[in-house]
Amino acid sequence: MEQTTKKIIIAIDGFSSCGKSTFAKAIAARLGYIFIDTGAMYRAVTLCALEQGAITAEAVDVEKVVSLLPEINISFRFNAERGASDVYVNGECVEHKIRSIEVSNAVSRISSIGAVREKLVAMQQQMGCQKGVVMDGRDIGTVVFPAAELKIFMTADPKVRAERRYAELKAKGDDVTMDEILENVISRDKADMTREISPLRQADDAVVLDNSHMSVEEQMAWFMERYEGIVNA
Ligand code: C5P
Repeated sequence: MEQTTKKIIIAIDGFSSCGKSTFAKAIAARLGYIFIDTGAMYRAVTLCALEQGAITAEAVDVEKVVSLLPEINISFRFNAERGASDVYVNGECVEHKIRSIEVSNAVSRISSIGAVREKLVAMQQQMGCQKGVVMDGRDIGTVVFPAAELKIFMTADPKVRAERRYAELKAKGDDVTMDEILENVISRDKADMTREISPLRQADDAVVLDNSHMSVEEQMAWFMERYEGIVNA
């Protein structure tokens, strides 16, 4: 009888712009798993809050953000051209809008709101309950799936990360400078690590991947070794 490989949950956490999503997407394609970009969900809520005037340069109107939550219906739809899922809010594709520097600059203030995290964590747990998922974010191995079979904590030199993000945004035609990207990467890491609820931290049983000087192929080889060790154990 043919043996089916057991399905597991792969949790990928780490700093901003480490290439977590690219890595997670490649793993999901290789294993036939579902890839869930949880950062896109926090970005989607942030976009709605910006559009509804709940965020100003000075402050976030937390009450207003919380009151918007029941109206924000987030979903993913697979985009064959990109080989990944696009994020939708109330039926509108917002994949491009959520990657803007405006959203990047505001997202840490929205992701620190307890009610926002509660809603999104519950959705993520629902999406991954059948296993066979690769989920990337900041709290996947610590809060969303603390029992995930494989936890990876990604890191890379902040300058390398900013250069990657800059190239990505420039390729899309966005008008950004290297300085503002570096500033965003550093300040987002700080905000994510020091927030009160579910701060970014490495789970005790996570394996660290520093990909500052690694190609996608090298990262994949590193991953497969660990993955096979788990599913064949
Ligand atoms: O992964 P990405 O950089 O797109 O995430 C955007 C932001 O969303 C992060 O800086 C963080 O504030 C928030 N986030 C989070 N928890 C997650 C995923 C993202 O707080 N699981």
